[in-house]
Amino acid sequence: MNDTTRHLIELDKQYLWHPFTQMADWFEDEPVVIDRGEGFYLIDTEGRRYIDGVSSLWCNVHGHRVAAIDQAIRDQLNRIAHSTLLGLAQTRAVELAERLVQIAPSGLGKVFYSDSGATSVEIALKIAYQFWQNIGHSGRTRFVAVREAYHGDTVGSVSVGGVDLYHGIFKSLLFETHFVPSPHPYRFDGTPEQCTAHSLDIAESLLKAHSGRIAAIVTEPLVQGAAGILVHPKGFLKGLERLARQYDVLLIVDEVATGFGRTGTMFACEQEQVRPDLMCLAKGITGGYLPLAATLATQRIFDAFVGKGDIYKTFYHGHTYTGNALGCAAAIASLELFEQHRILASLPEKSALIAAAFERFAALPYVGDARQCGLMCGIELVQDKATKQPFDYRRKVGAKVCAAMRPKGAMMRPLGDVVVLMPPPAMDVPTLKRLLEIVEETLTNDLPSLAQGS
Ligand code: PMP
Repeated sequence: MNDTTRHLIELDKQYLWHPFTQMADWFEDEPVVIDRGEGFYLIDTEGRRYIDGVSSLWCNVHGHRVAAIDQAIRDQLNRIAHSTLLGLAQTRAVELAERLVQIAPSGLGKVFYSDSGATSVEIALKIAYQFWQNIGHSGRTRFVAVREAYHGDTVGSVSVGGVDLYHGIFKSLLFETHFVPSPHPYRFDGTPEQCTAHSLDIAESLLKAHSGRIAAIVTEPLVQGAAGILVHPKGFLKGLERLARQYDVLLIVDEVATGFGRTGTMFACEQEQVRPDLMCLAKGITGGYLPLAATLATQRIFDAFVGKGDIYKTFYHGHTYTGNALGCAAAIASLELFEQHRILASLPEKSALIAAAFERFAALPYVGDARQCGLMCGIELVQDKATKQPFDYRRKVGAKVCAAMRPKGAMMRPLGDVVVLMPPPAMDVPTLKRLLEIVEETLTNDLPSLAQGS
């Protein structure tokens, strides 16, 4: 280890508190310090290169140090880095809003900016809540969400989340939410159709039982990311939309993880021709460069907030960096690259490559399930392949497997014992093949001994 790395690690351990990290474990580890990026590689302070196998936490799209995005940010710096959207308009924020509406599912005509996935969800919840208040349905104050959902870490988004490990301790801080089971067959004994019907039946009975009290249904479309890449059976999202229409509640779709190509289409909603009332975007919106988010709303919702002189109809919500100009400039450049490089057209080949590898992975010892929705993929490691009995989580088998990939040149991050594979949508095929080779080699050669060790 060189002196710079040693010094940075010392300072890190002295001054930083890392997110989602048991710091006692962190102190025992020798962390990698990322210093640079190049294309689809991360480079550490020792000069070691790693394929960015989880898109820097599911947000990178076109790679790192992409000339066109870098230039767009520099050009924007020559104009202005940031000005407020409270009482002022801003060139790039306006231009990006038009573009987002053009590519979003039809009906979503208004863009409310913020700065993270959690805030985009928080905003959707508050808009949904106030929408009903503004039109005189003051009893519609609750939400229906999916168990094991993850929508971010602010108190509102945690209230509609259902990952016990992350959310359990905050229970008494949260507002009441009605949950339906995740329809993923791995979580429920039945065919995909039975799981979907079961989940939708429960959703419907909740909507009936709490008639006039539900503001919106909230869901991650097609796949629950943080739950461990739980892929929903086909038709679940469409079923939720049907129920939302039938019972006149709003549908909030959280495309924070799924948006910008990650499931094979620009937005996951498109695959079931679903038209949400509110759609949350973040992560990949800037190509993974800068913190920017957006909550898109329909005209019907927007209109409920418009009333000349009626201050109480106003949506009193905003963040200092809402619609940040550098973020918007990066986002516009990213959308241009989607077109120029025909990214969406390139996805079926990459999806197929992963699917072929996953068929082999699923047959390996200690692999309980290999799940994929476009480029959102997870390999669930289990103690017993037949019964799907999980490992004792304290053994951190998932983390150890990912650590074993580092010396081979891949940077991965698990969710518990689910090894997540989430390459940037623009990743070139040779790099994706190399990444899959590293995963396969590790699952074949390292997993058995890690699984049997203490
Ligand atoms: N919603 C979903 C579906 C997510 O996957 C995430 C982050 N993984 C979030 C919301 C929260 O986004 P952020 O971390 O930017 O707050």
